[in-house]
Amino acid sequence: MREFKELKELKENPSIEKGWDSKRKNLAIMFPNLYYGGIYSLGPLIIYNLVNGLKDWNCERRFLDYSDLKGFEFLGFTFQYELDYFNFFKILDKNNIPREKEKRDSWKIFFGGGPAVSLNTAPMEEYLDVFFLGDCEDSLVEVLDVYSKQLDEEGKENFCKKSFLESICNIEGVYVPGMTKVKSYGVVNLETAPYPLVQPLPLEENDEFVFGKSFILELERGCPFNCEFCVIPTTSGKFRYRSVEKLKEIIDDGLKINEREKVVIYAPSFVHPKQKDILQYLIDKKLKFSVPSLRAEMVDEETLKLIGLGGQKSLTIAPESCERVRFDIGKQVKDEAYYSLLEKAEKLNFKKIKMYIMIGFENETEEDLVEISKFVKHCCKLFSRKISLSINTLVPKNTTNSNKKPIDKKLAKAKFKKIKELLKDIGPSGRIKIKFSNINSSAIEGKLSLEEKSL
Ligand code: SF4
Repeated sequence: MREFKELKELKENPSIEKGWDSKRKNLAIMFPNLYYGGIYSLGPLIIYNLVNGLKDWNCERRFLDYSDLKGFEFLGFTFQYELDYFNFFKILDKNNIPREKEKRDSWKIFFGGGPAVSLNTAPMEEYLDVFFLGDCEDSLVEVLDVYSKQLDEEGKENFCKKSFLESICNIEGVYVPGMTKVKSYGVVNLETAPYPLVQPLPLEENDEFVFGKSFILELERGCPFNCEFCVIPTTSGKFRYRSVEKLKEIIDDGLKINEREKVVIYAPSFVHPKQKDILQYLIDKKLKFSVPSLRAEMVDEETLKLIGLGGQKSLTIAPESCERVRFDIGKQVKDEAYYSLLEKAEKLNFKKIKMYIMIGFENETEEDLVEISKFVKHCCKLFSRKISLSINTLVPKNTTNSNKKPIDKKLAKAKFKKIKELLKDIGPSGRIKIKFSNINSSAIEGKLSLEEKSL
């Protein structure tokens, strides 16, 4: 983690200013990493809008570099990645909050949510009172209601945390270590779930704000596919998507509240059956937009044309490996589908392709590495403009169906070396850039995801 400066205040627009009032309880939702990345994270935005919509509650966002936690009764942390656990400790230390739960004020509740803890609560069980697994829109409101009533009845000094936790431990999607008997995941109906329409962004633009002045539009949750290594099928519940009517309503309402020139589409696999209608609606409204990584076999030329009309100049694909391994890990997309997409992208004048490859799948052979290099080289022939190739080690995650062996760092290094050799005649160059992930960080991230006890 690079050095950072603590921010003195957040100058943002729009924002919900409920302020501090002794009649209300206060919830801080913390993104335990830097502000510039956290502003685009959907989880904190959902909680910020949801909790501020409750009459008796005030909610503020906090970040690693804006981390004052004074005055809050309910303190939540959304963990996107396991490596953010270390930032959690930094934030506690900075606020002089004891790491041990037992030493904290009994009326203060610390909770965790997000993909990392939805996959595995074990590393953080000693430090957090309660976890929200999967979607939290329904369960959080129920939990806050129970808390509010109990705190009003008992007051801070007599608040019994144990009885509070006992009364919420069986709510769907709530996990209280040592009390919840069967873990369950929250799965909300996207059509009726409240949408985070207020999306604060800094007043001053800065190069680090990767998506610029964008409105986040969440189309889908979950994924209809089941790639073995992916966390989405385990943490996000069954595949759901919002209707076109609902999405149009969200776009219209969202743009009345947020002054934005661009929409960023969030969708794990971007396979909404009416995606063309949604893109066309954004184009008709003269909005620029960006789409996530594409499932090559699901995208036709018309969709690519719409993406281009929306102002997006680059496309992202994640072939992961060669065709044999890809099918072996449940990502059933043929090489031909990627080739065909690249030909169309070339014809339609896209400027850049971002491509993600992973090394380290179970049963991966040296021959597979050769096949990956042939595949990549062929892609580079088909697309004549910029290619940004990201080569990563597979990070083992605590999903329901994946390879759970920790990373063998020596083997991973050897495979990176081999791939570098195999690809040496294509890059790096002005046109093709190749980036390798940090094996040490990936190994720690994987270890934390598989960890069976608290840190
Ligand atoms: S890798 Fe993509 S397509 Fe596969 S399960 Fe994950 S989100 Fe779905």
